[in-house]
Amino acid sequence: MKKTEFEYKYVKKCADCKTMFSSRSIHLVDRFKNVSQVYVECKKCKKSVLVYIVKSEGLFVTQIDVPTDMKKEDIIRFQNMSPVSEDEVLAFRKWIKKSAV
Ligand SMILES: [Zn+2]
Repeated sequence: MKKTEFEYKYVKKCADCKTMFSSRSIHLVDRFKNVSQVYVECKKCKKSVLVYIVKSEGLFVTQIDVPTDMKKEDIIRFQNMSPVSEDEVLAFRKWIKKSAV
């Protein structure tokens, strides 16, 4: 799956050590409608993060960073799984709303 400028714009540097991510550290896992899931591995501190970028109506964008133990290989396995269902997206949106409070 190809990365776009959109994902690059929001995934820039490591939250822990502030190292700038190189384009090779950023992997687009999935994109479903207005949600992009990006996996980033910091080459300096080796921390992995799953970043969810949610585009809402207008220009509002929510970004959620979830630290993960997953490795790039797991992500590739992930990509071969069935696409995200409508229900999963709804559940995810509910979760975001809850977390945003
Ligand atoms: Zn780092």
